[in-house]
Amino acid sequence: ENILQVKRNDEFYYPIVFRKNFEDLSNQLKTLELQERKCCIVTDSNVAPIYLETVKKELEKVSDTIISIILPAGEENKTLAQIQNIYEHLIKAHFDRKDLLFALGGGVVGDMTGFAAATYLRGIDFIQIPTTLLAQVDSSIGGKTGVDFLQYKNMVGAFHQPRLVYMNVHTLDTLSDELFSCGMGEVLKHGLIRDLDYFEWLKENREKVLNLDEDALTEMIYKSCVIKKTVVENDPTEKGERAVLNMGHTVGHAVEKLKNFKLLHGQCVSIGTVCACYLSLKRGLITKEEYESALEALRAYRLPISVQGLNAAEILTATKSDKKMEQGKIKFVLLEKMGYAYIDKTVTDEEMKEAIEVVLEE
Ligand code: NAD
Ligand code: ZN
Repeated sequence: ENILQVKRNDEFYYPIVFRKNFEDLSNQLKTLELQERKCCIVTDSNVAPIYLETVKKELEKVSDTIISIILPAGEENKTLAQIQNIYEHLIKAHFDRKDLLFALGGGVVGDMTGFAAATYLRGIDFIQIPTTLLAQVDSSIGGKTGVDFLQYKNMVGAFHQPRLVYMNVHTLDTLSDELFSCGMGEVLKHGLIRDLDYFEWLKENREKVLNLDEDALTEMIYKSCVIKKTVVENDPTEKGERAVLNMGHTVGHAVEKLKNFKLLHGQCVSIGTVCACYLSLKRGLITKEEYESALEALRAYRLPISVQGLNAAEILTATKSDKKMEQGKIKFVLLEKMGYAYIDKTVTDEEMKEAIEVVLEE
């Protein structure tokens, strides 16, 4: 139960390993025959003081050359300028095609390191060591990498799969409660879109999960990774099914933008999930009890189910500038039933508006 193999291309797979410390990292590299390469650990200014030394020591067992780059933390630094900064370090240290990058941090570090790896010398190998819940259950798997550009999120990027994803569940011990809950927004989404039993499990195991019980967390992260893996393997470049992972994200991104990123991503996704569930209820796809149980689960994990200071018209307008549109039609993810989502292109503005009203507070 503590290793998953994810398809990288027609020929190769990469493992996701679930561990309680960093002590198996060098062994994993040997198993993959990635030892004796130059290593560059990319991390950020919050993560470096906590985990960089331990990871460096571990890599010293299998490599003579280890450099590190500490990026300034935060989404506002997810820029091409920081990618250039990474290239410069790599050139200075004579990194070539067989050398390795390590993303040690949350989704921001993961997306940037992955993009640098995808483009440096037309592509070198990289390893994901995700340290936020969101990165462990979502961004480290599936190969989407990139940076923000102008005012657009993830505007420039590439698909580039890692060689290994190494999860150390105990890195979550140092995460703030708020960031932990944000990851739970994506976790609950996984249950709702693909696995009702998992959704029920999340409700039953709330205490353990919120107390960071290592076995409960490992089981949870594993189950979420299975769902993400299955969806992205069926549709690696998002031509269809992969879009179900965007449940709650159309309204979520709109709220995120209108609130100038003062509400966190997972909190906005939670609000968007309420809209998606409400539309599913209105269309008779789920029952009132099921709708209430979805809201209850979000609340139980300290996620908001409403937002202050916005109006429906501005949210509706903002949803239209989301990238996930096809010929002016919004692809909206609805629940066909509890535990199974589908992509619907028939949601009207009136329906959207009504669903948005549900999450507005005075
Ligand atoms: P993040 O990387 O900014 O991390 C959040 C904060 O937590 C940062 O300040 C970071 O320094 C700090 N941090 C990280 N690990 C820590 C730890 N163990 N202890 C204490 N502090 C820690 O944000 P995130 O929420 O992890 O990821 C969000 C990013 O992921 C966004 O840029 C989003 O676009 C991207 N994303 C990508 C994908 C994908 O498929 N590639 C999917 C979802 C999200
Ligand atoms: Zn998300």
